[in-house]
Amino acid sequence: MGTAEKENGKNEAEEGNETTVKCVASPCVHWAPGDRCGAAAIDVRDEKGTKTIKPEETECHTFALREGLSSMVSAADNVNWGGMAVEMFKSGQQLKPGITCSVDDCKYWATGNQCHAEAIEVAGRDASQCPDTSCATFER
Ligand code: SF4
Ligand code: SF4
Repeated sequence: MGTAEKENGKNEAEEGNETTVKCVASPCVHWAPGDRCGAAAIDVRDEKGTKTIKPEETECHTFALREGLSSMVSAADNVNWGGMAVEMFKSGQQLKPGITCSVDDCKYWATGNQCHAEAIEVAGRDASQCPDTSCATFER
């Protein structure tokens, strides 16, 4: 599992990130009902490390397959606990992970590995590993 966290547990993009994340990769341990992501931070990457042409060549590197209690425990350090708690009482945009993205071929990419899209959509409904997911919002 990849992580975009810094040593203090905060993500560079977490502070001030306004991008909404919709994700259909329900096998992920961070996935929450309503196609939302309960991770505190996600890390979007290029699968091949070369030029990105299509959305399918990107991945959510934070994806982790939900495989019982042990996977949930190992993912616990990257959970938006505050957002989860508020979400239980008031459904809305509380679950909004910080995003770091190294796909600099994307038109929404900005210096500092930031994503300037208003919203992104992560694909990978039947994903079992990171490369099965992708940022469907990628655009050259
Ligand atoms: S695949 Fe990525 S965006 Fe989707 S729930 Fe998992 S960590 Fe969040
Ligand atoms: S929209 Fe582009 S910059 Fe934003 S996360 Fe997806 S690939 Fe990265």
